[in-house]
Amino acid sequence: MDVKMHCTCLQCGNQFTLDGTDVRKTEYKDSSGKSIWCTYFWCEKCKTKHFVQLDDQTTNGMLVELIKLLARITKLQRQNKSVKKYRKRYNDITKKLEAARKKLAETYADKTLFNAYGIEEVIRMYNVEFPEVSDGQEGRPSIQCNM
Ligand SMILES: [Zn+2]
Repeated sequence: MDVKMHCTCLQCGNQFTLDGTDVRKTEYKDSSGKSIWCTYFWCEKCKTKHFVQLDDQTTNGMLVELIKLLARITKLQRQNKSVKKYRKRYNDITKKLEAARKKLAETYADKTLFNAYGIEEVIRMYNVEFPEVSDGQEGRPSIQCNM
């Protein structure tokens, strides 16, 4: 995320500004041992974690594909070549990715996942509106952060 975002803590009501550096993506496990990568930030005042996005192996794979496509589109555009085909594929995958992430968030919201230390944490989702990728724009993955 390279946009600054205003947040209100769900726990203490503290208002703060978030930028990409405050967001982390780490691996959790569900009760069946399936890996779920959680993207979250925390309130600087009360340290409550707010989860903004969940990924599994499938959505992580889509993300990798989007990054590759974006690189290809950028390269072709620089050579003044048509990017129509890739742009369509990019937007198709973006839509699928958003739907899959929405489903993951619905599945795990308010449930518990195990963190890297095997400790259960409640997944409290924080709703963030990301700009939509419309046709005719290359767009970019809605969120990117350092793993
Ligand atoms: Zn707080």
